[in-house]
Amino acid sequence: MDERLQQKLVKRYPEIFRDYGGDMRYTCMAWGIECGDGWFELLNSMCHDIVKLCGDKDIQVIAHQVKEKFGGLRFYFGIESKYTILNRLDVKIRNLFFSHKLGIPYWKIVKFRRKIWKTIEEKISDRIDQAEIESEKTCEACGKPGKMRGGNWVYTACDSCDAKYTEGKRRWKHPEEFPNVYEQLFGEDSYGKL
Ligand SMILES: [Zn+2]
Repeated sequence: MDERLQQKLVKRYPEIFRDYGGDMRYTCMAWGIECGDGWFELLNSMCHDIVKLCGDKDIQVIAHQVKEKFGGLRFYFGIESKYTILNRLDVKIRNLFFSHKLGIPYWKIVKFRRKIWKTIEEKISDRIDQAEIESEKTCEACGKPGKMRGGNWVYTACDSCDAKYTEGKRRWKHPEEFPNVYEQLFGEDSYGKL
């Protein structure tokens, strides 16, 4: 992803991307955000929602790795919380209790409980799943609606970017051939072109 777009995400969501950059040997996100510019908005709105979900609940999502895999977005993350273990145990005990009391299998209780009430972790994980699913319908190069294509090399692209890929053009080799997402969103700036 365009370094300038990555910096936008890091600045907007410093807690989520706290492992970004720094000492290459120790940070999980040493390689940066490894996907196309077209998924910037997907990541942006996902992070926005994550921050809202966390609110003041003493819970924090930390990105470990963000990349493209098999044509879709992968967001690997960790959750830090003071109360996580206790909360989880509490939920587990309740589920076991109901499971035993009502004679209903444990997984059915969990499924039913998730329908009416979700933990914050589950809500966060659902929101991330949603972004990953959306990425499979969003052009990785430009952000317009697209679909998964390809055989050995699977990628998600709109018709126009796909035509360029078919011609052999690649975003990292021929950036001028593809829409400039950063400039479309933020205008030109002095940072220089990628
Ligand atoms: Zn496109």
